[in-house]
Amino acid sequence: MSEGHATERNDTGSRRWALWATLLLLVVALLVVLVFLTREYEEARDQQALEQEAAAVVGDIRNELVRNVQTLQSLNSVSPTADSWSAPAAELLAQHRELVRLEWRDNAQRIISHRDTPYLSDVFAYLDRTRAVADVKLACDNAQRQSGPAYSSSYFWPMRDGLGLELMEMCMPVVRSGVPNGFLVATYSLPGILSEFTRPDALRSRGLSFNDADGTRLALHRMVPGTRRTLSANAVLELPGHTLILQLQSPRLVGGLFPNVLTAVISALSLALLAVLALLARDTRLRQRAELGVADALAFRKAMEDSLVTGLRARDMTGRITYVNPAFCEMVGLSAEQLIGTGLPAPWWPPELVDEYQQRQLVRLAGQTLPREGYESVFQRSDGTRFPVLIIEAPLIDAQGKQTGFMSAILDLTEQRRVEDLNRTSQERLQATARLATVGEMASLLSHELNQPLAAISSYASGAMNLLEQPAASVPQADLSQAMKRISEQAERAGRVIKSVADFVRRREQVREAVSPQDLMDAIQPLLVLQAKKQGIQLQIGIAPGCPAVHCDRTMVEQVLLNLARNGMQAMPQGDPALGQGARVLRIAVHQTRLHSGLRPGGDQHKAWITFEVSDHGLGLSPEVQAKLFTPFFTTRTEGMGLGLSLCRTVIEQHGGALTYEPNQPRGTVFRFTLPAHLSSRP
Ligand code: ADP
Repeated sequence: MSEGHATERNDTGSRRWALWATLLLLVVALLVVLVFLTREYEEARDQQALEQEAAAVVGDIRNELVRNVQTLQSLNSVSPTADSWSAPAAELLAQHRELVRLEWRDNAQRIISHRDTPYLSDVFAYLDRTRAVADVKLACDNAQRQSGPAYSSSYFWPMRDGLGLELMEMCMPVVRSGVPNGFLVATYSLPGILSEFTRPDALRSRGLSFNDADGTRLALHRMVPGTRRTLSANAVLELPGHTLILQLQSPRLVGGLFPNVLTAVISALSLALLAVLALLARDTRLRQRAELGVADALAFRKAMEDSLVTGLRARDMTGRITYVNPAFCEMVGLSAEQLIGTGLPAPWWPPELVDEYQQRQLVRLAGQTLPREGYESVFQRSDGTRFPVLIIEAPLIDAQGKQTGFMSAILDLTEQRRVEDLNRTSQERLQATARLATVGEMASLLSHELNQPLAAISSYASGAMNLLEQPAASVPQADLSQAMKRISEQAERAGRVIKSVADFVRRREQVREAVSPQDLMDAIQPLLVLQAKKQGIQLQIGIAPGCPAVHCDRTMVEQVLLNLARNGMQAMPQGDPALGQGARVLRIAVHQTRLHSGLRPGGDQHKAWITFEVSDHGLGLSPEVQAKLFTPFFTTRTEGMGLGLSLCRTVIEQHGGALTYEPNQPRGTVFRFTLPAHLSSRP
């Protein structure tokens, strides 16, 4: 069963792990997607801004080119002759760095006058200007056709030292008084356009270049610093006759892992979320461990309660059952379902005892504590049979220290009672056997004692017969009746002897009654006298005047007295030279003792006790004999049973008294025992 339990635990454990792993995976995926989307969004936003910027730059360039066209138009109108043209042309070139050369050509496109930029020396020194004629012609043809400015496509113009410039021609027809008066050709440098027509502060760290339609870079104004990834935006600069593409580049701000605040915030939040998740997992793990601990403790407790043979029962403050264990259910023969929730009177109370039990319940509810060692009671099983129990009760205190009810442990005393009964009966049987043994021992004494009255009867009878043989008139009537009286006396005496033995042997029920010490002595005296006389021992019996009656089982106590007296007499054998004739005395004394706690257990100081003393002047008790004195079947005599003293002690202790002994002076032993005085006879 525990194995199944373990695999079940493993199952739930792995399932929980799978759940946690899935959750973690989902959260991580969510975070990755979130970070990715944020970056995408920001990139798109940057791209859009860059494109707008590129469009603005193109707009600026277009405006400047248009303004240049106007300026150039005014050049020819203010200086109509070739000589006068040169100076303002030079001035214009000095103001406009984007222009490399100005040419005034006639209608056949031959140069009338020209001027080069002062900023670049010898642009046209390495290669002859005639190499660009094709482009000029193309532009001027276009200009003529459109009667407005036209641009050639750009071309690379190599210079000395491997340098070069990307150039572009702009040609516009010159009209004077409504008549075409040649062409004005302006040669633009593309890098010049980029540097002159853009505001450097607006470009900041941007890269700017002119590209061909196929992406070939024509002129570069500025590179993006560093080699990092860049964003780029193109904008088209459409000019009459030619189209250029302006490319604006911007370094992507994707620096490290967190390119900007938004991503950083989201990443931080994600980390926090993961941390919370981890804490939650730890918390769950701890909680689960605690739960397992509690479950184990509960299982252990349950196993313990179920295996107990002691019945357990819990009640709340109103007496309703809140818990029973299997042992209790078995005791009363009802199931836990039938018991739990039932109030008073309880189903196991015998009907005739309900009042008494209810009273006990009231005491309990009044807050009085019940005896710690428990109290005995009688329960009734569901089949009606009764059984004795011992109930040990304790208050149930909850975690707040408040009493919530009572917990009781119930012991079934049936078996214990049975054993006790068995012990008692065997004890009684043993005592009866001992009595019979005593009687057996006394049989010889008895026959001796009976001999005397019988002999007397016989002699009186033969005397009477002798008298009767005489003639009737001379028979002395008085003598005859005297003899008959003696016969009847002797017969009575014999009868008494037999009766005293019969009385002693007859087994009676144990009854405690008030018996005066004198009555006790009277009962055993005939038997004692028999033995004493035979052994030539002097018997002294002294009962203190006013001594109260003893509360005892008379037969038993008689037996004890008889045993002790007989032991004492046997300790003083007839042939003992150490004992003078007068020293062979057996003394039995009875007196009342108060507070003589040494003689009895329990120490109940209020009872009166009667002490019996049997003293002899025998050989006394050797240490070996003392060690085994009360051991059953210990004897030093060949005909002894060895049961006498052990039984004596049992009897006395059953009465609540004690049996002790001590040496007598000058020699011998004193056996002493106490018995409770009968209460009403207390003086
Ligand atoms: P039993 O009388 O059958 O031998 P008891 O139990 O009465 O059995 O006595 C056990 C032994 O204790 C006796 O055999 C005897 O040796 C010793 N004993 C008992 N009473 C006396 C006594 N008054 N003086 C000396 N010895 C005694």
